[in-house]
Amino acid sequence: MSATESEMAKPATPLLNEPMRRHTSWRVGGPADRFYEPASVAELQEILAALPRATPLTWLGLGSNLLVRDGGIRGAVIATGALPRDLERLDATRVRAGAGLPCALLARQCVRWQLGPAAFFAGIPGPVGGALAMNAGAFGGETWDDVERVTTIDRAGELHERARGEFTIGYRSVRGPEGEWFLGATFALASDATTASGLKAMLARRNATQPLGRPSCGSVFRNPPDDFAGRLIESAGLKGARVGGAVVSEKHANFIINAGKATAAEIEELIERVRALVEKQSGVRLELEVRVVGEPRRGR
Ligand SMILES: Cc1cc2nc3c(=O)[nH]c(=O)nc-3n(C[C@H](O)[C@H](O)[C@H](O)COP(=O)(O)OP(=O)(O)OC[C@H]3O[C@@H](n4cnc5c(N)ncnc54)[C@H](O)[C@@H]3O)c2cc1C
Repeated sequence: MSATESEMAKPATPLLNEPMRRHTSWRVGGPADRFYEPASVAELQEILAALPRATPLTWLGLGSNLLVRDGGIRGAVIATGALPRDLERLDATRVRAGAGLPCALLARQCVRWQLGPAAFFAGIPGPVGGALAMNAGAFGGETWDDVERVTTIDRAGELHERARGEFTIGYRSVRGPEGEWFLGATFALASDATTASGLKAMLARRNATQPLGRPSCGSVFRNPPDDFAGRLIESAGLKGARVGGAVVSEKHANFIINAGKATAAEIEELIERVRALVEKQSGVRLELEVRVVGEPRRGR
């Protein structure tokens, strides 16, 4: 067996009790029992095949839409951040992107190729895998608008090619075959005249209205039909509301900022306060866009 083959045959070693605050954009979250960060699909397949079926799995992209509770995550976290950043132009209008490719790189290359609509991907902080899972959207575009097919991986490490029709797509919601996660997608695009300076202008407009330099998870709540969560929160007088280190942004009321040493429990408490006050004032019950995972710290 060559050195490379013997290295490949070694089972991947997880980080134990890895603090999830290192892997979430809110910079909060307790330890994950086991944290795997495979560098290739082959390594990921090996990890999945070796993990006992009873081990709970939590999939992680950039952690930009996740609130991990302070007690951390039991079982295994599979982080996709080190997977290859594949991007290939298949023909005149179709491109294939891997789950680990940052959406911003997809946007920039599609603008160079004069293909779109893909510039909106520049507004989504995470990689393609997380955007597929969330049907993330920005500037009026959504991830699944132009998906033709996706590659998924199941619990046993088997790969599947799936057509778009096998998924039910909604606003920040995607339902498909149970127990499968995204490894990449083929997008069917069209020719598009967005320029690099047009892209820059879109991002500048957004910078002016959102607190992008502060630790957050973007929009906390989904927009209710025909309204905006930010407008409802602002109308309830909640800009600047605070629990410990968690603060409702003054710049955009649907953002909660970790202003220092916030805990996940403080963020959750602020979320519930905002929800209760908005419901009392407007009758609208806001639904979460951010996904909450893990366990509260013991003793709470
Ligand atoms: C400053 C800021 C601005 C933002 N602006 C926007 C915006 O304009 N529009 C928007 O839609 N979102 C926005 N977001 C939220 C977030 O960036 C998106 O939802 C993004 O697509 C999440 O990707 P991620 O890789 O970070 O997912 P994570 O937070 O890591 O995970 C989110 C969910 O997806 C699952 N998941 C992750 N990867 C996979 C995979 N490969 N297969 C299956 N499931 C997976 C996770 O298990 C989890 O349930 C913003 C966030 C921040 C911090």
